[in-house]
Amino acid sequence: MSKVAGYTCIRCRAAFPADLKIDSRGCPHCRADAPANLEVIYAPAGDGVAADRLSRKSPPSLWRYADRLPCRESDAISLGEGLTPLLPAETLGGRLGVPRLLIKDEGANPTWSHKDRFSTVAVSMARLTGARVVATASSGNAGASLAAYAARAGLKCVVVTFAGTAGAMLAQVRKYGATVVPMADKSLRWPFLASAVDQFDWYVTSPFHAPVVGSHPVGLEGYKTLAYEICEQMEGAAPEWCALPVCYGDALAGIWLGFKDLFERGVIERLPRLVAAEVHGSLTRTLDSDRDAIIDAPSAFDTLAISIGTTRSTFQALQALRQSRGTAVAIDNDGLIEMQEQLAACEGIFAELASVTPLAAIGSLRRRGVIGASDRVVAITTASGLKDLDRSASVSAPQSFQSVDDAWQHLRKNMQDRKAGKDAG
Ligand SMILES: [Zn+2]
Repeated sequence: MSKVAGYTCIRCRAAFPADLKIDSRGCPHCRADAPANLEVIYAPAGDGVAADRLSRKSPPSLWRYADRLPCRESDAISLGEGLTPLLPAETLGGRLGVPRLLIKDEGANPTWSHKDRFSTVAVSMARLTGARVVATASSGNAGASLAAYAARAGLKCVVVTFAGTAGAMLAQVRKYGATVVPMADKSLRWPFLASAVDQFDWYVTSPFHAPVVGSHPVGLEGYKTLAYEICEQMEGAAPEWCALPVCYGDALAGIWLGFKDLFERGVIERLPRLVAAEVHGSLTRTLDSDRDAIIDAPSAFDTLAISIGTTRSTFQALQALRQSRGTAVAIDNDGLIEMQEQLAACEGIFAELASVTPLAAIGSLRRRGVIGASDRVVAITTASGLKDLDRSASVSAPQSFQSVDDAWQHLRKNMQDRKAGKDAG
């Protein structure tokens, strides 16, 4: 049973019924000059909706928080997502000047990215509302994740990509049995999806109209569980700062809903400030402008952080930053691969290139004195480093040895070189 009683606009707070057709244009009142996404209004508990917190067992997934999510755990399509590790990262934190750094490793999710928090809720709701086909415009983690949950739900899944999509990601989508529709031009992906919604009533989870307001509001609810888990793993405390990679700000808006929920219920005593690590600077410029209109930041380079490479963010992202007294930092390619390697070599966490942009942002904010040396800072690494190996690593095969002696000779020289490097550094 769905617990969605309706939707409300995040900007003008207008309310809409639960059967409102989500068409990715956000609030019907606001869309013309100030587009804004919707958020879920819950049916009050007691209206025939059992409180899931009273259920016998706590499932080993984010569905342990089902009483805060749009459907019951018994209706959930789950692969055991969530409950990812929150790891102290003192060595890397020390290097960045924030020894109380914690890493929320979202690469530990079933399809190796945080998008599983979105997909588990979106696909559960799609099935509950009778959808037969779920679809997304994605060339990355969102497509792979949606394909997996659709497979689990027995729903058809269509992932609309464009020429140039990474081979590994395409392989992942296809292995889950989804249909890939590659468009020659990236801009054709949304009109294609809009026509599928009009003609066949597909359940589309991604944006498919410009200007972008964000992804489907029910999926965003899944990201609240990031906040619940972080505070639970910090034994009821909230960090001073929480940094994550941001494109259209779905996870940013979702995690902020979660922190606000905890604060309003008195579970945490203070709210963290959010940090958006972005690429081209749309949010940075919009925050500086002091206005609500999202500013386009032209693309000046090809980013390595491909999954957040948008030139225009959203009102939902801006609002989460403003309400949390947070900030945004634009991150270029300089030092990104080195940061990825430091995280892996210092802390044992191998994250996608986009996922290490929050660490670069934290370093930058610490150097500018915005983040304090004793602040507790959570960085969310959103996906596994196996996702974009084509961008981050060379694929040449390592040298192989003909004898045990050869191997030792090589190893000794290698260790001497490293020691010399360390001594010199
Ligand atoms: Zn509105």
